[in-house]
Amino acid sequence: MSDNRREILIAGGGAAGMMAALAAAGHGAAVTLIEKNEKLGKKLFITGKGRCNVTNAADMDEVFQNVVSNPRFLYSAFSCFDNQALMALLERLGVRLKVERGNRVFPVSDHSSDIIRALERELRRLGVKILLQREVNALVTETLPEDSGRRVTGVRLRDGQVLRGDGVILACGGLSYPSTGSTGDGYRLAAETGHQIRDCVPALVPLEVQETEAASLQGLTLKNVSISLLSGKKCLYQGFGEMLFTHFGVSGPLILSASSYASRMLPQERLKLIIDLKPALTEEQLHKRILREFSQARNRQLKNVISSLYPGKLLPVILSRSGVSPEKQVNEVTKEERSRLVEVTKRFSFTITGTRGYQEAIITQGGVSVRQVDPATMESKLVKSLYFAGEMLDLDALTGGYNLQIAWSTAYLAGSSAASERRKV
Ligand SMILES: Cc1cc2nc3c(=O)[nH]c(=O)nc-3n(C[C@H](O)[C@H](O)[C@H](O)COP(=O)(O)OP(=O)(O)OC[C@H]3O[C@@H](n4cnc5c(N)ncnc54)[C@H](O)[C@@H]3O)c2cc1C
Repeated sequence: MSDNRREILIAGGGAAGMMAALAAAGHGAAVTLIEKNEKLGKKLFITGKGRCNVTNAADMDEVFQNVVSNPRFLYSAFSCFDNQALMALLERLGVRLKVERGNRVFPVSDHSSDIIRALERELRRLGVKILLQREVNALVTETLPEDSGRRVTGVRLRDGQVLRGDGVILACGGLSYPSTGSTGDGYRLAAETGHQIRDCVPALVPLEVQETEAASLQGLTLKNVSISLLSGKKCLYQGFGEMLFTHFGVSGPLILSASSYASRMLPQERLKLIIDLKPALTEEQLHKRILREFSQARNRQLKNVISSLYPGKLLPVILSRSGVSPEKQVNEVTKEERSRLVEVTKRFSFTITGTRGYQEAIITQGGVSVRQVDPATMESKLVKSLYFAGEMLDLDALTGGYNLQIAWSTAYLAGSSAASERRKV
């Protein structure tokens, strides 16, 4: 090109790749966005069950609290481009937004495709060159003089073509939902240029349990329960909300959050999941509640009297675990048996044996070690002019729009840094 603009190449046309391209082009660079799928934003399309929870509108302190891995690395990225900046940008691009329960932000239309379309329109307006069905297969680097390390000078595509540039941004995503294109290429490209990859595991993912009872509870949703996930005596996660049983174990919002603190230990370790089925009642209050039920029906069978306390599917499991005959008349239930009922209700436990796979994981935990990336620019500390953005970095958060905000913020910073870097001669 004859003009004096920096040429920036971006691998990956997901949330991070598109945002990096917008930022780089917005800062005056000539940008080429390379995506191996036939269209941009394939994963973005399925986010938030097709509604795309684009970010979370909470104040940034709360946003940080929801980041699980390496929150401190994100200070610069979040202060450069935070949730408010993202919302302002989307509104400017014509996407009207709404804030729902838990500060989750969605497009008013409830269509993720509106987000993708708006970003794509802006990419074209800014003159970003979009190459679809082209795959970055290797990075091209050169050794700098006087032992000052290496610099990236371009990328080699799978078809052998080499594209040259002043900077390269890798935004290839992780390993979760591989059908969307996130198949770990970014980790390979980073590792081939000497970067450490922190072990990857599926996270925000359902968990498998040892007890076969879980299968008999399949389909049962528990609302307003609290759970604790323990490794020996150490509590890894505690939360209140909703979960459900499946044919292999447990899932639902509470379990997905818990998995982010457990994945790394599984399957080497067995973890204990303890469900408090009546978190609003102390043990003593639950005793009293059961006695009240008993006093109103002294000659009736236990299973009929306490049925109001548990969902139908759960009752037989509770009674079997408590070792109290369901047919027993309530006036014959001993104090000890009542205590066992209370114990099982307050500590309904399962042994967690593993996580489900990447096909069911919302994110990948692990990735390019943030120690080798400058948090102020997202540039590699090992290879000059090489930048990282999005899920391929060792960053992840809980559900609620935080993971996309990580992608938007790191990508905006990477794109604007790459475009603004002084041109080397
Ligand atoms: C089912 C589901 C629902 C989710 N819902 C939400 C939600 O509502 N809110 C939220 O905050 N987060 C959500 N997430 C997480 C969020 O989608 C990701 O954190 C985010 O999309 C990561 O963006 P990314 O651009 O880094 O990676 P990706 O979106 O994975 O994009 C990477 C892109 O790189 C391309 N690519 C890979 N290798 C190459 C290569 N060699 N050459 C060229 N291109 C390549 C891929 O094809 C892909 O398009 C959800 C995830 C899933 C799976």
